[in-house]
Amino acid sequence: MARPLATDTIVAIATGAGPAGIGIVRISGPTALEIGCRLHRVRHQPSHTLRYAMIREPITGEILDDALVAVFRAPRSFTGEDVVEIQGHGGSVTLKRVFSACLAAGARAARAGEFSERAFTNGRLDLAQAEAVADLIAAGTVAAQRAARRQAAGELSDEVRTAGSLLKGVLARIHASIDFPEEVGEIDAPAVAAGLASAGERLRRLISGAAYGRRLRDGIRVVLTGRPNVGKSSLLNALAGSDRAIVTPIPGTTRDIVWEDLEIDGIPVRALDTAGIRATTDPIERIGVDRARQAVESADIVVAVLDAESGLEPEDHLMLAGLSERLCIVAINKSDRGDAHTLTTTLRSTLPEGCRIVATTAPRSIGIDALRRAIGAAAGAPGAGADAPLVTSARHEAAILRALKDIEEAERTLAVGLPPELIAVDIHAALQALGEITGEAAREDIIAGIFARFCIGK
Ligand code: GDP
Repeated sequence: MARPLATDTIVAIATGAGPAGIGIVRISGPTALEIGCRLHRVRHQPSHTLRYAMIREPITGEILDDALVAVFRAPRSFTGEDVVEIQGHGGSVTLKRVFSACLAAGARAARAGEFSERAFTNGRLDLAQAEAVADLIAAGTVAAQRAARRQAAGELSDEVRTAGSLLKGVLARIHASIDFPEEVGEIDAPAVAAGLASAGERLRRLISGAAYGRRLRDGIRVVLTGRPNVGKSSLLNALAGSDRAIVTPIPGTTRDIVWEDLEIDGIPVRALDTAGIRATTDPIERIGVDRARQAVESADIVVAVLDAESGLEPEDHLMLAGLSERLCIVAINKSDRGDAHTLTTTLRSTLPEGCRIVATTAPRSIGIDALRRAIGAAAGAPGAGADAPLVTSARHEAAILRALKDIEEAERTLAVGLPPELIAVDIHAALQALGEITGEAAREDIIAGIFARFCIGK
């Protein structure tokens, strides 16, 4: 599906707003060099060079800034078009004046993501790589940044294309036996089965890391819940320790609930300390309890905090019973004051499967590493050494799952001996799903939606 090539030239301020040492205005398109030439003589500047230049307003001739001008000629540029980058002084007035001068010289203001979209249209990046560029900019942790960089370098696309090539190999065999039954004979069922199995295996390997990948990108909410005074705030402080994260992508947390943004196994974590959930007639406390309940309901992982000193109280049983459907961890806090071991044994048989129990003494940071590990494990963090490219986008995950379903359907069709044409239909569907990831078979509205979420200038 060929996308129409751009005929106009776009411009954007590519660096962030606010005072800064350097700011960059980026121009891309068929007339980028002419436009650059009206601000400064770039027409004869060789590709991939940087020149010091006075940037002039094209109509009045006023010097707007002194800058470095970079020239990248098509097709060896980020967008695949002629690109001029003016690296001048930061600060919004200077940048806006240079930007306006580019408009006056004939460029058009770029839409969000339009540079990356042009790179995709011109075959410089596939869709998964272009999406990774946006993730790279938004990454809030080192692990998220690393996963985005690897995806931008094409590791996920390569893996998806390898699975696609295996399927195409199977398809070629099937078509050969349909088209040339005399020469090729019946389809080679074991070879077809082997091809389908190895494509499926590759895709399943990708899916196995997808839950972690999504959490790496989108972050998770971990809610600490429990009776008042069991040590929730102390645990939150101990968890935050010196590992406070600077940014997380998690939106909209009510200010009434105390939280800390931290990083666990590379995942941006918003850990929230709630008021205890309990029956109350006090209207003010009621609001706190309602908010706490909402926080628990919106949590990805719930840490139910118990007090080893006081043991289990009726409210604790109520809280634990409510955990059944959630990814949960039980922290037995104040383990310096009571018998956490016996409590653990008592709880083991009653808790939902997979619920981890950790003994902690929050003020002395005892058990906090174990609690962090339990949160990481509940979030699906892979152990050391797991090295498959990570699927971090829900869109990619859904497409891989569809491809896997089609492959399994093809395997069933083969096993029951139905005509090979039917296997071919399933394989075509699987290839279509995989093509949506790299963009070869993605719908135009989906592509437009992806780039619209980018920032301006990227
Ligand atoms: P919250 O109401 O659940 O948030 O409980 P806090 O974190 O405010 O703790 C209540 C009290 O218990 C404070 O005085 C803490 O210092 C104390 N505390 C918290 N955790 C522990 C613990 O593990 N051991 C002991 N001995 N005291 C603790």
